[in-house]
Amino acid sequence: MSKEERDERAKNFIRAAIEADLAGGLKSPVVTRFPPEPNGYLHIGHAKSVCLNFGLARDFGGRTNLRFDDTNPAKEEVEYVDSIKEDVRWLGFDWEEREYYASDYFEKLYESAVALIKTGDAYVCDLTPQETREYRGTLTEPGRDSPFRGRGVAENLDLFARMRAGEFPEGGRFLRAKIDMNSPNLNMRDPALYRVKKASHHRTGDKWLIYPMYDYAHCVSDAIEGVTHSICTLEFEDHRPLYDWVLEKLAWPAPRPRQIEFARLNLEHTLMSKRKLLELVREKIVDGWDDPRLPTLAATRRRGTPPEALRLFCERIGVAKKDSWIELEWLEKAIRDVLNPIVPRVLAVLDPLKVILEDIPPGEIRETEAPFFPDEPGKFGFRGARLSREIFIERDDFQLEPARGFRRLAPQREALLRWACYVKCESVEMGPDGRPALLRCVTLERPSEAAGGKRAQRPGVIHWVSRDYSTPIVARLYDRLFRVPRPSGDFATELNPESLVTREDARIEGAIATFRPGDRYQFERLGYFVVDRDSPEPPGKPVFNRIVPLKDSWAKSQKS
Ligand code: ATP
Ligand code: MG
Repeated sequence: MSKEERDERAKNFIRAAIEADLAGGLKSPVVTRFPPEPNGYLHIGHAKSVCLNFGLARDFGGRTNLRFDDTNPAKEEVEYVDSIKEDVRWLGFDWEEREYYASDYFEKLYESAVALIKTGDAYVCDLTPQETREYRGTLTEPGRDSPFRGRGVAENLDLFARMRAGEFPEGGRFLRAKIDMNSPNLNMRDPALYRVKKASHHRTGDKWLIYPMYDYAHCVSDAIEGVTHSICTLEFEDHRPLYDWVLEKLAWPAPRPRQIEFARLNLEHTLMSKRKLLELVREKIVDGWDDPRLPTLAATRRRGTPPEALRLFCERIGVAKKDSWIELEWLEKAIRDVLNPIVPRVLAVLDPLKVILEDIPPGEIRETEAPFFPDEPGKFGFRGARLSREIFIERDDFQLEPARGFRRLAPQREALLRWACYVKCESVEMGPDGRPALLRCVTLERPSEAAGGKRAQRPGVIHWVSRDYSTPIVARLYDRLFRVPRPSGDFATELNPESLVTREDARIEGAIATFRPGDRYQFERLGYFVVDRDSPEPPGKPVFNRIVPLKDSWAKSQKS
């Protein structure tokens, strides 16, 4: 994508709409809100909404409120409120003192509903939920008026007060907007505004026995807070007429909030439905809400992804008006772009194959200076790369019968040990499992004539660690949770059986001696890694999570 295209995308249609409102004389700073329902953990889709809402307000010199949309007492928990705050803060955004709850407005919402009754715009309906559905009609058939639609104001006021007082059972009575049962938009066919619900609320306790419906609570909450632009996902497009109707009927003073919809983010090889995420956790397919394979922000953080990368990703993908799937590559690329300049590079071997360098006597050390950041050697300084008689290389870097074009170690072939010297493989000892168990090699100052000839045959570079100057670690190699790019959620057939491969015998070079959770390194040729949150203290083995591999190997591995 060119710079112009990027600028264009970032400049999105929502930005254009806000610019138009300001040009048209909007008399208010731009106010947005991020309105999570505290019924689950935030995921990368939410991050997109957070970045958008906070980003727009920042760019226009306005402000953003954090508002918990807690109108459904049955599903909400304080644990989620805390995790949401932690996640938004981690993403790098600050709502200052503007932490709001829809439940703070329950009294005001109730008064507004009474006002709608008084203007003849709302009525109490006694139809059961089943009957209400039957009266509603379908997309092709108009609805029918409820027999209770003609109730007088005094009777409606009395019944609504008694709903609040708890006189009626759940599902017994609803307060409904009086709009139009013939509207082609089903949301406008006298939608419910209030329901009876005898549940304890995490903030208001047992004070309320009726609760406002989302569509009613949301627009009024936005208006109370002076939100100017209420940005939400596309499924609310058909609800916008109702949003505007409520504020119109309440004669809310200008400027009224304006709802603008954008396409929700779908990321390939993962799922972001809260219900599906809950299932993955409950069925123990993953190891809790912060299992690094999940798209939750808690998991993303534990995986070692820096928040800057999520922000960059969201900026690059921009906003769309049509639902689409974004390739995971976009996220991985953003992570690499952020980590590349800030993370030191070291040598580590994940699947070790032992090598004896026959010409180095036991006890001898050959040390060379190796930069932690070869592109800019001064950046993180140098350490000694210590070669000794016994080393380990990556099992993959040796082939008994080398394939065409393979330029690493094989019998009688040569390779360059990163930051050290060339080696030639003189012989191979096989293990009882039929796999190579030990290579006997010699070191060389330079590649031999034969090997150094044509470019295609020149020895490749491989990574290594010395047996005596390295530390055993555990490496967890995380990969796509779902094998298929656009999962439907069928765990039996769609999960990637190799979404986590654990390397218990991995080793990292000895120059790295402290392992604080959150420390990140690039393991040369392998990927970016982070010390896991739960990595044990010595003498336990440090645990590293792979954040991302160095390049996209998925597409290739699926073809072969
Ligand atoms: P549910 O999964 O129950 O439908 P939700 O994902 O909409 O819930 P909310 O807590 O209501 O969760 O979301 C808070 C905000 O984040 C809303 O404004 C919502 O539109 C936005 N949001 C949620 N998922 C995505 C997504 N995948 N992409 C972009 N924005 C999203
Ligand atoms: Mg929602």
